Amino acid sequence: MAAQTRLFLCLTDNYGVLLHDPESGATAAIDAPEAAPVEAALKASGWRLTDILVTHHHADHTGGIAELKQRHRCRVVAPHGEAARIPLVDATVREDDEVRVGSLKGRVLETPGHTAGHISYFFPADKLAFVGDTLFSIGCGRVIEGTPEMMWQSLLKLRGLPDDARIYCGHEYTKANISFAKTIEPTNAALNAREREVDKLLAAGQPTIPSTLAAEKAANPFLRADLPEVAKSVGLAGTPAWKVFAEIRERKNRS
Ligand SMILES: [Zn+2]
Repeated sequence: MAAQTRLFLCLTDNYGVLLHDPESGATAAIDAPEAAPVEAALKASGWRLTDILVTHHHADHTGGIAELKQRHRCRVVAPHGEAARIPLVDATVREDDEVRVGSLKGRVLETPGHTAGHISYFFPADKLAFVGDTLFSIGCGRVIEGTPEMMWQSLLKLRGLPDDARIYCGHEYTKANISFAKTIEPTNAALNAREREVDKLLAAGQPTIPSTLAAEKAANPFLRADLPEVAKSVGLAGTPAWKVFAEIRERKNRS
């Protein structure tokens, strides 16, 4: 049976997601920014929380864990490199490990850069990718603990997922990301189409995620740093892709 998801806002602009297995009744929260919106989503869906899958240690992804675990006795799965900085971890995972949510089978992808131990979760049968703060729609996370080269490799790993993978990221930053992306690729038709779509969604009070990997490959400059036209637009024609990525990220930091 196909997995079900439920997306909701937490804090100011964080997204929480529930992933539900109708066969077993198991439900995972992908990160836990704060407990109350997760509880509200559980109540609205009638689902029972069995797992929390953590992408990285930042407080706006882990702040709700203690309260949720106390109430639901759920299992907390966390990246092995960050377990010491995440509360109440039951299981740690590494690259290529399998994570089960009931009968749903996910795979761990190590995607360091935003934090040193950041991981993403991909559920191939349903083509659901939970990428935390590594990839955003038309953007990517700040490189805080890693290096630009490391972050670029992480983005390449995510870029290798199927085109129709649905991308669930940690924040609603899409509008600002599009404004910035247009400074890099002002004539990118896919980017301009995505802007019209996003304006419509936001005007209707709808989230702009999930996105698809195909849509991101077509319009997200951070996934396009190895294209000659993108390198050229930032004055780095012929330069290694990770350096082009670093320049784009640096410009975004200053924007
Ligand atoms: Zn973060």
